[in-house]
Amino acid sequence: EQGIAPLANPRNAASGSLRMKDPMVVRKRSLEAILYHISYVETVNGQRSTDNSLNSHSGALEMLWQLGFKTPAKEKKVLLDIEGVIKYCNEFEKKREDLPYEIDGMVIKVNNVELQQRMGSTTHHPRWAIAFKFKARQATSKLINVEFQVGRTGSITPVAKIEPVHISGVTVTSISLFNPDVVKEKDVRIGDTVLVERAGDVIPYIVKPLTELRTGKEKKIIFPSNCPVCNDELVKPEGEAVLRCVNINCKAQVVERIIHFVSKDAMDIRSFGAANIVKFFELDLLKDIPEIYTLNYQKISELEGFGQRSIDNLKAAIENSKQQPLQRLIFGLGIRYVGETTARTLAKAVDHLLDFEKFSLEELQNLEDVGIKVAGSIYQFFHLEDNITMIKKLDSLGINLKNTNKKVETKGVLNQQTFLFTGSLPTLKRSEAEELVEKNGGKLLGSVSSKLNFLVVGEDAGSKLDKAKKISSIKVISEEEFLKLLSEP
Ligand SMILES: [Zn+2]
Repeated sequence: EQGIAPLANPRNAASGSLRMKDPMVVRKRSLEAILYHISYVETVNGQRSTDNSLNSHSGALEMLWQLGFKTPAKEKKVLLDIEGVIKYCNEFEKKREDLPYEIDGMVIKVNNVELQQRMGSTTHHPRWAIAFKFKARQATSKLINVEFQVGRTGSITPVAKIEPVHISGVTVTSISLFNPDVVKEKDVRIGDTVLVERAGDVIPYIVKPLTELRTGKEKKIIFPSNCPVCNDELVKPEGEAVLRCVNINCKAQVVERIIHFVSKDAMDIRSFGAANIVKFFELDLLKDIPEIYTLNYQKISELEGFGQRSIDNLKAAIENSKQQPLQRLIFGLGIRYVGETTARTLAKAVDHLLDFEKFSLEELQNLEDVGIKVAGSIYQFFHLEDNITMIKKLDSLGINLKNTNKKVETKGVLNQQTFLFTGSLPTLKRSEAEELVEKNGGKLLGSVSSKLNFLVVGEDAGSKLDKAKKISSIKVISEEEFLKLLSEP
């Protein structure tokens, strides 16, 4: 009604709304809270409640409902055997499309609270509850064309353009095919009818072509031998699945590098979105990273959509970024294999960014969690004339290249113990959790090894957890337990 694009899906709408700073805006979103669990009960005089209805999960939901809270009181069902559970789940999945809300599954819980307590929980989920996920949503569409995109590091990604298809709340028009191996393995062809799947918040992907619908006119996907943007010859590095453009001045890569440099986790120059970067680049107003700091605002003000206010905002954001801590700058430089954690390690190892010119490969490898591959990439970066020139330009433009907080906190409750995080934590952002470790005298590692003391696991923990389980000295803990460590005297 307001002419604004609808929110992509309910989950993002809700979590995005809650993160907004202005409560008045949040209020307009008409969020609803639906309670599904009581964690702890106390009566007025501080005694544990003796109310029998709280001995079961269903009783607790009933009580909440009677008190006027929204709960799944009408949807929940107490079932006495697994056949009943399966039947009820299937019934719900069948009416999924007719429900007034989006759901992707159901949760099956042990109803008896005392049994729940006896079953307890693992480090990341209770043993008395399990999710039953509905089938991922699938749809068919036609593969019209394949475009080849050049990433920040020069990787060439085939992107399938398909006829627009609506799957679980979003319209999908393009889907990454990742690399030549995937294309070969799936044998997708231009003109194919393809089966597209999207589960939860996962990016959509092509399951397979429906070969029985082929007419014989489908065309194989041919990878280019030259960069679609700069026309340099592409290479396929040993042991890698992707084709790469290795021309450091390739325009596509320059734009992607600038976008990465200003991004939230790097220099965090807000109000400088990717669309504007592309626009400025095409208009020759911005050709490389240092030029962010010498933008011609006079010319920009002549562009459509740039009022005084947006120019002032942009100017201020760019100016503020000059004092970002060194690790953000290092991350922003987009050195291959250097993520946020490695950037932090690197920032701590020097007084000034250009000190890295003098680092040998061995010295780099001696840094915590820097292996041969990463060290090689960093070494190469700081031995390329173009990169050094760029860094010196940034220096002369007043960007902070110094490590301003070199003194590492070694005192603190965590007492030099090492930590690694995996999966999404229930309350803390990854960066917040890592900051807490450092503030309290702990150390961060980038991978699972025998040097690791604690692996803090969140939801959807992956291979790091599997690895850690094989090393008995590593303690696998939850966010809650991690926070407890911090509060211990
Ligand atoms: Zn190129």
